[in-house]
This record gives sequence, structure tokens and C-alpha cells, in this order.
Amino acid sequence: MKRICLSFLCLAVVFLHADCFAQDPPRKKINTIVIDPGHGGLDPGAPGTYSTEAEIALAVSLKLGKAIEKEFPEIKQIFTRTTDVLPGNKPNKDAALKYRADLANSSGGDLFIAIHCNSAGKKAGGWYGQRISHYVDATKKVKVKKKWVTKTYKKPVYETYWIENHVKGTETYIWAVNKNDAKINSMAHINEYYGEIDSTSTIELPDPSDPAEKARMLIYTLNYFRKSMNLATLVEKQFVDSGRVSRGVKQRNDKGIWVLQATGMPSILIEIGFISNKQEEDYMNSEAGQEAIVTNIVNALRTYIHNIEGRGKEPVTEENKAF
Ligand SMILES: [Zn+2]
Repeated sequence: MKRICLSFLCLAVVFLHADCFAQDPPRKKINTIVIDPGHGGLDPGAPGTYSTEAEIALAVSLKLGKAIEKEFPEIKQIFTRTTDVLPGNKPNKDAALKYRADLANSSGGDLFIAIHCNSAGKKAGGWYGQRISHYVDATKKVKVKKKWVTKTYKKPVYETYWIENHVKGTETYIWAVNKNDAKINSMAHINEYYGEIDSTSTIELPDPSDPAEKARMLIYTLNYFRKSMNLATLVEKQFVDSGRVSRGVKQRNDKGIWVLQATGMPSILIEIGFISNKQEEDYMNSEAGQEAIVTNIVNALRTYIHNIEGRGKEPVTEENKAF
């Protein structure tokens, strides 16, 4: 019986899809935006040299909320946290993650924006390494045919040097649709792979072979994937336009960004910079940096809302009409 029901659901989704091609989908108003500052409380996120990801994510998220309120006062905002706690004061990261998604869904959110910082390398800022500086002539005794002889050789002299943690830039994540898995995984091996990598989480990823999951992901693909991609692309474009290094829009489907598929709405996770890079840590902690990041996101949001609802100040250009 369960299988028959699921088959009907799949069929219904397919017909819904066909219908989408037949006519323009109705324009949906964006009434509620969910802002999710990453980590918090006992989960500080990635460490910088003097600040944490959780602190920066909260500061930028609160400023983002104020800027959205100014630009779009009619849009309701839901924050998953407004202080340095795990969302919902939950006792662990996984419970807090579920709370983030549940809150977004129960609030009837039309858009979910998570703010995080990226991290790379052995240590924030940099670390000391050793390398060969030069060689000196040296001698050593070696045994040749049962006799000790003295041999000269070049002995390396090592020096300690500072390795700066140089990886920097922004990335925006969206949940990958399952059919792209192989391609995404192979790309991940080629490119440097950072972002939200959560090895401690016990949260379970959806099983792509489960029919109910297939139906759910089809709904995601039809309703939210392109919108998420659209907003993510606009955000990264804004970062580029203001001179930041953009590492682009990334599609993933792993634990680190689990929350994106658990929210029934277009969802993006913005890595606003590398906290492990001293320059970017300073930028993300500065008033000017935080304001610039917020302006970038609001500019992207303005175009996105205009495209979705046909309102807002931004004229639709050929470029942002692509989605
Ligand atoms: Zn994070």
C-alpha cells in the first residue's frame, strides 16, 4: 500500500512538472526570510587567530537582518539564533541543526540564508615549516667490504620558515540534486575542497534510493533548485563586483550542508570568507568588511526578489534574467 501511494506521489510530481512547462508558474511573493547564523554556543565553528566563525556569522547575520528590514520592511524575518547559543538552546549540534530546519519550515519561510565562514590549512593565520636552506660538505664513516672508510657527502642544512595560510575567497553552497553526484564528487577531487565539513555530526543524509526520498528530491529540484542556484550566483557575482575573490557556487550533498535540503524553500549557505586567512579574518571582523558583505547579499537579494516577484528597484538585465 505504501509503495502504491509513493508511486502515485511520484506520478503526481511528474504531472506537476509537465504542467510547469505548459504555463508560467505563478509568481510567489517572498513574505518570510529565515536567517541562520552558523554554529553558536558550544559550537564555535572554525577558529581564527582571535575570533570564531560563530561570532562573525552572528554579527554579519544581525547586520543583514537590519539591512533587509530597511530595504524590505514588509518581509518578515526569522532568526535561528540572535545570541551566542546553539539555536533553540539545544544541547548538541545535531539537535540544533534539526531545530534550524524545523523553525524554517514551521515559520513558512520563503527563503533560507545561512551565514558561515570557511577554513583551510593546518592553522589559522599560518604555521612554521622546515625546508632545506643549503648544503655543507660533511664526512661520515661507512663500511666498505668489512673496512671502515671516510666518505664526504653533502649534508642538508634546514631552516624554519613561516607558511602563510593563503587560501581565501567566498563560496556559496546549494544542495546538489542526486543525479549530479558522480560529477560533483570527481570535481571535488580536482579542486581544493573546503566548506562545511562536519565529521562529528551523526546526522543522517537522506537515502537517494528510497522512493519517498526520490519524490521529495524531485519536488526540491522542481521548486527550489533553480531559485537557490539563481540567488547563490547573484551573491557570488556581487562579491566579485566588489573585488573579493570568489570561489563560486558549489553544489554539494553532504553532512556539512544537510540543513539546505531539510528546509522546504530555496536555501543557500554563504561562506563569506576564510577565517583561517589573516587578511580575511580582519576584513570579516571589521565594520567596513561586514557592511560590504551585507551590501553584497542585499544587492543580490534585491535582484532575486525582482526576478521572483517582478518588484524591487533593480531592473532585470540580460545577465540576471538567465534563471
Ligand atoms: Zn560553518
